[in-house]
Amino acid sequence: MSLYHPNETSKTSKPNEPEVLPCPECGAEAMRRWRGECRLLDGFVIADLERWHCTACEEDFFDPQAMDKIAFLRKERSNSRLKLSKRVKEGNYV
Ligand SMILES: [Zn+2]
Repeated sequence: MSLYHPNETSKTSKPNEPEVLPCPECGAEAMRRWRGECRLLDGFVIADLERWHCTACEEDFFDPQAMDKIAFLRKERSNSRLKLSKRVKEGNYV
């Protein structure tokens, strides 16, 4: 017999950290931690980003950690694009 029940502990653990927050966009108490693919307004897609997500209006909200990750991935993406375009150019000239 185990005293640990994963489904039950999630209800009682961390009472100071609410899992659902009111959404600043639509006001519904439906904003929660969300993890998965995230498409930004400019078409930039991040395969696995943890952020706040409102399940009522489908709006995404980014905390500082998420913003850092976006900035980091943008930089990395633009670096790899630079390398790729250089390679393509070299290929054209050879
Ligand atoms: Zn909302």
